[in-house]
Amino acid sequence: MFRLADRLTQLPPYLFAKLDIMKQEARAKGVDIIDLGVGDPDMPTPKPIIDRLYKAAQDAENHRYPSYEGMLQFRQAAANWCERRFGVKLDPQSEVLSLIGSKEGIAHIPLAFVNPGDVVLAPNPGYPVYHASTVLAGGETYTMPLLKENNYLPDFSAIDEQVLKRAKIMFLNYPNNPTAAVADEQFFQSAILLAHKYNIIICHDAAYSEIAYDGYKVPSILQYEGAREVAIEFHSLSKTFNMTGGRIGFAVGNKEVIGGLGKVKTNIDSGIFQAIQYAGIEAIENQAAAVDASIAIYQERRDVLVAGLQKLGLNVEKPKAAFYVWFEVPEGYDSAEFTAKLLQETGIMTTPGVGFGEYGEGYVRMTLTVNVDRLREAIGRLETVLT
Ligand SMILES: *Cc1c(COP(=O)(O)O)cnc(C)c1O
Repeated sequence: MFRLADRLTQLPPYLFAKLDIMKQEARAKGVDIIDLGVGDPDMPTPKPIIDRLYKAAQDAENHRYPSYEGMLQFRQAAANWCERRFGVKLDPQSEVLSLIGSKEGIAHIPLAFVNPGDVVLAPNPGYPVYHASTVLAGGETYTMPLLKENNYLPDFSAIDEQVLKRAKIMFLNYPNNPTAAVADEQFFQSAILLAHKYNIIICHDAAYSEIAYDGYKVPSILQYEGAREVAIEFHSLSKTFNMTGGRIGFAVGNKEVIGGLGKVKTNIDSGIFQAIQYAGIEAIENQAAAVDASIAIYQERRDVLVAGLQKLGLNVEKPKAAFYVWFEVPEGYDSAEFTAKLLQETGIMTTPGVGFGEYGEGYVRMTLTVNVDRLREAIGRLETVLT
């Protein structure tokens, strides 16, 4: 009786919602599932963050409407962190905006800058929200393939000049989900040059900036020359501090872009629960050691999983960052067939690469969000079907 609006029927079904249904069905049948599917940290939020949340929740003031742009104290903490971490100095009033998780900002930014028919450049395979938010704003997604032979970096020289002229936004995401690739200074500089030349806003999704291994330090695009004129960066407390349920993140960078996003948000949401903002301040200011501890755990898991998969003859490389292992499915399967086989025959839930776009076809993504014992168990189960 009620027809969905065209903009919704144009969206692909949200991948993780679909995978959730598959998981529930298997669970209902009594399968002991090892979930290497969704990237949601399994480790607890550090206790001082919870304590701060609890304390702030006792204060009646914090249950009133928060400010739209986020408490200045939280934005100041975010700005200080960017300076400590990347050497990037920001004005907390005009260059920092609090977000209800970075997904919220990514979903809203095209509404601020994209008119019907405008182009948004988005990586493929990629986080599904880049395409979805483009469609919801009436824009057209132009796919930038992330190919293994290019180290999963987009090849800007392959983009048609007519497309670049129509492009308003370019999404980038390093460390990358789903490929776990990282980007270096040279790449960011070429992106910044392109953005200047064609007047494109770079929206860099840095949700995994703090999850990196073997001492590798992830850069911010904002630390490179010319970035502040064309770029904003999305940061999230979700993966860094095991706070995915808290819904808190922030955007930093170019004033005009931050202002545009803020204007959309003022008309849609009413800010972040202040108790969560206090918890976020505690996280950003004082919990670096807890992050190091999580990274050590992910790194051990990475080593166990990658070594196990390699022993099974799979072509897998150790990721430098993020908590994903991305590799080609064995010959004879496409990615959906392979992940369905794993779920049915081993109870292991993974994500088919094609769920991140057509250039993810032929790949599968596993997450490092289960403990080492379960990863060993997973390798054992895989051995029974892959050898
Ligand atoms: C998890 C994730 C996000 C969203 O994080 P929230 O801050 O929880 O909304 C954004 N981008 C990528 C690539 C992610 O994997």
